[in-house]
Amino acid sequence: MPWKPTTAPRAVPAECPRCGAPCLRQREGLPFDVLADTERLTPEAAAARTTPNRLAWCLRESKWTGARLVEVLGQLHSPVCPWPHVVNHQCPPGTPAVKGALW
Ligand SMILES: [Zn+2]
Ligand SMILES: [Zn+2]
Repeated sequence: MPWKPTTAPRAVPAECPRCGAPCLRQREGLPFDVLADTERLTPEAAAARTTPNRLAWCLRESKWTGARLVEVLGQLHSPVCPWPHVVNHQCPPGTPAVKGALW
């Protein structure tokens, strides 16, 4: 895996604790934990998937600092932005909620 340790904010591969889907997770540099789908989308496709509760993220990948998620407003984001885009992960319908205080 090309992910390298660094002190810069970065997104790391992680599994969804509820449905086990592969995700990207980022904590540093953000006011909250972000769990995003790994599927790379165009700005247009990412905008189509955003909702008030689902944010779009610009995935800035660099071989020096790793991947970093930058929040973008789907509807207002540049349609020609060259970076891949991801959206907040949502578990498939029917995924049982995790009981207790795992999170
Ligand atoms: Zn972008
Ligand atoms: Zn999930």
